[in-house]
Amino acid sequence: MNRLILLLFSFILSLPLAAADKKALVGGTLVNGLGSIPILDSVILIDGETIEKVGTVETLPVPDGYLIISTDGMTVMPGLWDMHVHLMINGHADYAYWDTEYLDRFASEIMPASAVQLLLAGVTTARDLGAPLDDSIEVRDRINAGEIPGPRMFMSGPFIQHKAYPGTEAFRWGVDSPRDAREKVNRLADAGVDIIKMVDQDEMTFEESQAVVEQAHKRGLKVVGHSHRPEEIRRGLAIGVDNFEHTGLAAAPEYPEDVMTLLKERTATGRVRGGPLYWTPTVEGLWNYEYTRDNPEALDNDCWHRGLEDDTIADIRQSIAHPGELLYFQLTPKRKPTLKRKIQQLREAGVVLLVGTDSGIPMKFHCQSTWHELDVWVNVMGIPAMEAIQAATYWPAKFMGVEEQWGTVVAGRYADIIAVKGDVLRYINLLQNVDFVMKGGTVYKQNGIPVEARLAGE
Ligand SMILES: [Zn+2]
Repeated sequence: MNRLILLLFSFILSLPLAAADKKALVGGTLVNGLGSIPILDSVILIDGETIEKVGTVETLPVPDGYLIISTDGMTVMPGLWDMHVHLMINGHADYAYWDTEYLDRFASEIMPASAVQLLLAGVTTARDLGAPLDDSIEVRDRINAGEIPGPRMFMSGPFIQHKAYPGTEAFRWGVDSPRDAREKVNRLADAGVDIIKMVDQDEMTFEESQAVVEQAHKRGLKVVGHSHRPEEIRRGLAIGVDNFEHTGLAAAPEYPEDVMTLLKERTATGRVRGGPLYWTPTVEGLWNYEYTRDNPEALDNDCWHRGLEDDTIADIRQSIAHPGELLYFQLTPKRKPTLKRKIQQLREAGVVLLVGTDSGIPMKFHCQSTWHELDVWVNVMGIPAMEAIQAATYWPAKFMGVEEQWGTVVAGRYADIIAVKGDVLRYINLLQNVDFVMKGGTVYKQNGIPVEARLAGE
């Protein structure tokens, strides 16, 4: 009996925290993700997990009982989406070593660390493109259950490809017949993945690659495909890949004429073919490699340490101690001059670009990669800030078919909202210091400081 009273009492004590169920974000300029004119002096009422009403200080007085959070002087916007992350890697330079040495720490340490780092960077939703199946499902579900903090995750699980590279069988599945292709897709679908990731489709037989896409679509899953080689793009278009990743074509100056023609045919038949053609160019790692090599200070930012064991941190740090010696990046300086042209061609072809970063690759930390990508889009590639923001909010949600729930700050959506001091539309790289992070109505970061109790699940 005493125990029960004690329990009740501690429950009541904890109420003021949990009962901050109704919140009002008041005063900031709202960029709602729909591309329309920003709303000045905005008011966003949040009830529990969802956005109840959106208005302005003039049109929407805050009713009694709401916890008021000032966003004065800030840009308020939907939580960012990063459509190409790798939770299982965390900046280490040696994949062959990492994939074996850390495999049994992916689900317990590495992936949760990557996830919380993304969340604190303002990424409230991310798409993971390649990790062991069980680990992927487990980490996603633990985040959704509130056991560990992180973005809402869309998981591909293992890559589907012609043949797994030696030593990568845990997260790459080879396919050796159309029947095998269907079976592998079914195994992934049965396990509950959110998307199918396909690479090297030009190395499969046409029938195998076609079976992957057909079966995925039959199971209600979209297919993401690499675009490293012209033939990967041609094949991908022929079999109906929904979203291409990377700019590709190594150091070649541009997409060939016939590929451009195919792309334009595809974007012209969007509705028939299941919507626009999406493309996640992941340019920043390539664009900034030489800069990072010569100005490596950002690598010492301890934002990427969160959630990692000391020995892991030391291991990653030593692997990137000499950025100029990383074999991974030796071709990068030759690729860099081609990136502007390729982005320009993609925009001319009418594809819908999505923000994705390959977060986790050597020197690319989850706490930095998303704003880095946005910075290069806007300040190098000349993409208008509003368009770049939509590519990291509305369009990813639309692609994943969840635009009615996420991706915009509109009444009825989940309250995934970030806020940043200053004008993000004018200075996109303010996003390197996200001051406020809310996911599903829960505040994980405020005044630039992580809310440790929330991150601990209290
Ligand atoms: Zn990747």
